[in-house]
Amino acid sequence: MDVKIIRSRKRKKTISAKEVDGVIQLYLPLGLSREDESKYVLWAKKRFEAQRRKKELWADNADSVLELRAHELNKRYFGGELSWVQISYTTEQNARTFGICNTTKKTIRISDRLRKMPKFVHDYVVVHELAHLKVPTHGPEFWKLVNRYPKTERARGYLMAIGMGD
Ligand SMILES: [Zn+2]
Repeated sequence: MDVKIIRSRKRKKTISAKEVDGVIQLYLPLGLSREDESKYVLWAKKRFEAQRRKKELWADNADSVLELRAHELNKRYFGGELSWVQISYTTEQNARTFGICNTTKKTIRISDRLRKMPKFVHDYVVVHELAHLKVPTHGPEFWKLVNRYPKTERARGYLMAIGMGD
């Protein structure tokens, strides 16, 4: 998203941001250093990006779709033997993490970035996190499970290439 900086005399100390037609209007006080300004630009971008992505997830009913997909993959690659408490997308994972499985709570979080990636990559990540329900660590036993998914190597290559490798 683009950010338009509005330096306002009136707003001496307050910093605020709002979105107008897809552009972030960032109100900053006069006299900030370049460095500080760019810090606030980053802050505003991050905030509105996360908001936009959360709205998208909600509008697409994304978590229900993911839940269904996880059940299909469970059936296809694990004989339906896995169970979990919750699987959902998150906008809060850092750029290098594609998924997290909490094996005690049996919850799985998938980075919402995966939704914009090829389906085989998305599904690989779901299979990967599902497999952690059985084997928490990345040992040979774990990879044997994950490799039931035929596009594992291709998907890992893809993720590594964009800096999200494991
Ligand atoms: Zn893993």
